Amino acid sequence: MVVNTHLNTLFHFRHKNRFIADDGGNGGTSDKTGKSADTLIIEVPPGTVVYDGESGELVVDLTNPDQRFVLAEGGRGGRGNPHFKSARNQAPRMAEKGEPGKERSLKLELRLIADIGLVGVPNAGKSTFLSAVTNATPKIADYPFTTLIPNLGVAELDRETTLVLADIPGLIEGAHRGLGLGHDFLRHVQRTKVLIHLLDGFSEDPVGDFIQINAELSLFDPGLASKPQVVAYNKMDVDFVAEKWPEINELMKKMDIQCVPISAVAGENVRKVLYMAHELLQHVPTQVLLDEKPIYRYEEDPNAFTIEHHADGWYVYGAAIERAAAMTYWQYEASLRRFQRILE
Ligand code: GDP
Ligand code: MG
Repeated sequence: MVVNTHLNTLFHFRHKNRFIADDGGNGGTSDKTGKSADTLIIEVPPGTVVYDGESGELVVDLTNPDQRFVLAEGGRGGRGNPHFKSARNQAPRMAEKGEPGKERSLKLELRLIADIGLVGVPNAGKSTFLSAVTNATPKIADYPFTTLIPNLGVAELDRETTLVLADIPGLIEGAHRGLGLGHDFLRHVQRTKVLIHLLDGFSEDPVGDFIQINAELSLFDPGLASKPQVVAYNKMDVDFVAEKWPEINELMKKMDIQCVPISAVAGENVRKVLYMAHELLQHVPTQVLLDEKPIYRYEEDPNAFTIEHHADGWYVYGAAIERAAAMTYWQYEASLRRFQRILE
């Protein structure tokens, strides 16, 4: 499986969801080895999470551009009769069949990865902004801690450019101590590359809030605080908010921060903010920010086997012995004897 950043859905799997790699070629006379078959490549969008279809276990989280993962290896080719030559037998009537390839069923899930996170104090207008620019329908003026799952929305800048935005609720005092916020949530914020920081025009001290939220972000994760931000002063449709704007703008300028006056409700300057965020996004390398840990799991000993006694005989189970059986030509006496030795 290979990540293709041009894909953003799993739709193509509705038409085709069985993939079978070609067989390798047969060996030939005079010690010729058969040709290997080409690798079968399945393309998926970034954010595809692959689970084992039977156990439900996580197989791999495909996030990075061009990331690839081997899901099923082809079988080793069978060895031809020259391999079984001995001093006593120069022309053995004995060879192996090719090892069967692996087969597995998988479940794919697409996790939207937000490019842009919305931060700000409760009631700054994050949910309103999200619903103004995307197809998302988050709850507006929701109590800060009722929804801790980030709302995701897709904003279309133009036909080719879409941005995934996450409204990150409740990132306030105490959040960095893990109060009520799950690990998934943290991961989600960490995966965003650019932040839109909304200042609440209704606040007594929007600039103080701005400093406070940034401090919270760095306590949460220093990497978060260093993400590029677009700062916007919201609720400009209200008179007293608009009156305070020149003063706020001055204070922000003193900190060397560009701030955009917007109204999420009226949709004023919201697209400008999106374009600025998109612009910043172009300068963020795609491979950063992820500290994906490899998945370790218990591997069964391939040589382990079990023997069961049933009414009609003895049954031997095990990966190695079953593979040896699959590779045996039963019609040849020598092959049969070799299998017998392995069995013993
Ligand atoms: P959040 O907590 O940051 O998600 O904020 P919400 O989007 O839920 O908004 C909080 C309150 O502010 C709601 O009552 C919104 O209607 C209001 N609000 C948000 N944006 C604006 C705006 O641009 N102008 C005005 N007048 N009110 C707004
Ligand atoms: Mg909200």
